[in-house]
Amino acid sequence: MRKLEGILAYNDKFVRRKEYIPYQTGKYPGDKILVVTCMDTRLLELLPKAMNLQNGDAKVVKTAGALISSPYGSVMRSILVGVSLLAVEEVFVIGHHDCGMIGLESGMVLDRIKQMGVMQEDLDSVYDQGVDVEKWLCGCSKVEEGVMHSVNMIRNHPLFPSNIPVHGLVIDPNTGKLDEVIRGYE
Ligand SMILES: [Zn+2]
Repeated sequence: MRKLEGILAYNDKFVRRKEYIPYQTGKYPGDKILVVTCMDTRLLELLPKAMNLQNGDAKVVKTAGALISSPYGSVMRSILVGVSLLAVEEVFVIGHHDCGMIGLESGMVLDRIKQMGVMQEDLDSVYDQGVDVEKWLCGCSKVEEGVMHSVNMIRNHPLFPSNIPVHGLVIDPNTGKLDEVIRGYE
């Protein structure tokens, strides 16, 4: 069975057995917080458990490295919708140790996708659109630096209300330990 069929078969049982009941909640975050974090597999359950977050407690926006690459991209838009319409009162940017985005250079991604069949002319067409591919596909040199970059991107955004605290933290993907990088109340 391929992945999609397997997931749909499981889902059919999940719904029929009403296993969703313990997870039913509302669309407004109970803890009034929004978390921007990485897509890392180790954080899928660990991060909410380590923060004592249950279903319904928080808005969570995931992007590689918790790095917000553009002030007018979909991550920043999600944050603005969260604070304006979805009752978010504090924002947490949480990077993690051993992140794949630490030290990532565009060449590592581009070499691999070319091996996967993407042609140079496809890449050239992206450059032709004026996209700075090197910058866009680049990670950060240190996790704390990436967290500070995202916190500053949010704090300095012209449409972000200045009374909303934006915190920066780093989580250990093995133990769940959180370390503070920036305390947003100050
Ligand atoms: Zn990561």
